[in-house]
Amino acid sequence: MPPTTPGSNYSDLPLLDVLLKGRRLGFRDRTALFSRFLGGLLRHEPMGGMFFRRVLSPVDREVLVQSHDGATRPMLMFGSNSYLGLPTHPHVQARVREALDRWGAGVGGPPMLNGYLALHRALEERLAAFEGTEDAVLFGSGYAANVGLMSCLPTASDVVLYDELSHASFLDGFRLGGHTGVAFAHNDLGALEARLEALAGRPGDRFVGVEGVYSMDGDLAPLDRLVALCRRHGAFLVVDDAHGTGVTGGGGGTARHFGVHGQVDVVMGTFSKALALSGGFVACEKPVADYLRLVARSYVFSASLPPQTVAAVEAGLDVIEREPERHARLMDNARYLAAGLRRLGFAASGDSAIFSLPVPPPMNIRPMAFAFHERGLFLNHVEFPAVKPSAQRFRISVMTSHTRADLDRLLTAVEEVWAAHVPYGDGLAGDPVEVRQGT
Ligand code: PMP
Repeated sequence: MPPTTPGSNYSDLPLLDVLLKGRRLGFRDRTALFSRFLGGLLRHEPMGGMFFRRVLSPVDREVLVQSHDGATRPMLMFGSNSYLGLPTHPHVQARVREALDRWGAGVGGPPMLNGYLALHRALEERLAAFEGTEDAVLFGSGYAANVGLMSCLPTASDVVLYDELSHASFLDGFRLGGHTGVAFAHNDLGALEARLEALAGRPGDRFVGVEGVYSMDGDLAPLDRLVALCRRHGAFLVVDDAHGTGVTGGGGGTARHFGVHGQVDVVMGTFSKALALSGGFVACEKPVADYLRLVARSYVFSASLPPQTVAAVEAGLDVIEREPERHARLMDNARYLAAGLRRLGFAASGDSAIFSLPVPPPMNIRPMAFAFHERGLFLNHVEFPAVKPSAQRFRISVMTSHTRADLDRLLTAVEEVWAAHVPYGDGLAGDPVEVRQGT
């Protein structure tokens, strides 16, 4: 597939018409179009493409990946959110087996009716203590937590101000509720304050949404300044700490990192990142928690998490608390990789486990993705139409189990792939490339 759109490998013009120009097609034609596109995407490269790669082993430092012709190969994993390697930790696995024996495999109902085990309540209390809030509510996923919270907490007369890089689930939440949302430039507290000042005196509540650790680039929101700013303006601060839980603040989350533990109005989190499970939570004051229990539709009308998941979260939190060396190794790895990437000319802080390597347009990112794949390195690449062509990038995450040799292998590959694919060495030595280009 030759590139026809600068910076992407995207040549399906009818699909572009649907995505970008709003061309209307009946659902049969539309689904057939997307299905054909996915088929092409998966057949494109010898290994069957870089999406929906089939993994045949537990997700850890090294994974076994199967190609479409059935061949398997080991790959070094740099694309997983399982930062702490908890799914294969003996304590986590033992607690999961115990939970299965004691509670069975599932509960088959929502919390309000028949799906609220003592196990669920114990985890809510533990998460509230972890986040320094009065209460916490469990959801089926992080997505459901954001959607449940943001669709029902604001009302029509309120305004939601959110960082422009906020996760889709936050946006979907307030949009589902039909509420007004206004984006402010990424981490631009001056812009946020100006908007809050402009709203002064108007009726209604203000909600401010940020992420503790931004999911694509791994940079942090300055929560100490945000807490102060929101207090000054009587705004309610919602922090999505999906990628901070277990990572920042010594593992205790981004509020701890900034010394404002217990001072954020709502901390939303997922079990799908450092805990590598599924499920999510909202930690907040008790009246807000009780309101969610009655009104948040993704909570009320959805079955409770299975006991094994709840037990695995509990056990994961035990490990985070009892084995600080696991977290220390993770942050050591993050700092080492950040230093190596900076030497290559990329912007990288090492404050979190996430790294972003922008691919300057008009480069086609897909042959680069394939080059990493060929070297046995499993990275995620983010390309148009998921992001604008100008914002295409590789997203790398480190884990506690990576060795220095693994990180060196990755750094060498980055240097070689950039040298082979990026003209004039863009993104290498010289002015560091902006992490976020035109997003
Ligand atoms: N918020 C952020 C910042 C995320 O990165 C994600 C996952 N991509 C979510 C929410 C949704 O979490 P989950 O996968 O648990 O639904």
